[in-house]
Amino acid sequence: MQFSEFGLDNRILRAIEHLGFTETTEIQQEAIPTAMTGRDLIASSKTGSGKTLAYLIPLMQRLLRVKALSRRDPRAVVLTPTRELAKQVYAQLRLLLSVSQGRGLLLCGGENFNDQIKQLRRQPQVIVATPGRLADHLLQRNLYLEGLELLVFDEADRMLDLGFSAQLRMIDNAANHRKRQTLMFSATLDDLPINTIAQELLHEPERIAIGEGF
Ligand code: ADP
Ligand code: MG
Repeated sequence: MQFSEFGLDNRILRAIEHLGFTETTEIQQEAIPTAMTGRDLIASSKTGSGKTLAYLIPLMQRLLRVKALSRRDPRAVVLTPTRELAKQVYAQLRLLLSVSQGRGLLLCGGENFNDQIKQLRRQPQVIVATPGRLADHLLQRNLYLEGLELLVFDEADRMLDLGFSAQLRMIDNAANHRKRQTLMFSATLDDLPINTIAQELLHEPERIAIGEGF
């Protein structure tokens, strides 16, 4: 399937063109239209199968085509288990945001906390974060997530393995639990811990499991 078949905003299509992609991967083909309906989603597919764009594209479509719930709060948050992964995701997000007026912010541990507070005052619309650092900023009330529209858990299984479940629950609680959309990605959907947290954090999710990548 081609990216042009999803009815995406032209600015997103141009950004994807810049990346040099025309054909979707399997997970993108399944996850993008499902996420665009506004439903919650839990999905798995192997490493390297293009999961990042599977959630960043619907995220961008929402940013460009749906009216914001709040001007103060971020509209979307992406959580990843490690700084390295957060940086990779943020690099892809920046490419997509460059075609619009959207502001993004990377919030990782190991970076200067006060600098991050200053950057939060600029009211980013999308935040890519590691769970510990985002939870710290929430506890200090450096940001609010009442207006959040979309919460993405990337590599949710690894976040649980790394012991972030308390932070994930805390972020979930702060993050407009009733109205937001939640997308969860995991290497597997079969483990008990991932199913337990999915049941807590997702509302009647669509399940997508792709055996092979591309
Ligand atoms: P995953 O999160 O599933 O491990 P990534 O999102 O990191 O996979 O993507 C892996 C690689 O595939 C990246 O280099 C990405 O740019 C590339 N990629 C993503 N989507 C496509 C596509 N539709 N066609 C070709 N390459 C793609
Ligand atoms: Mg990934």
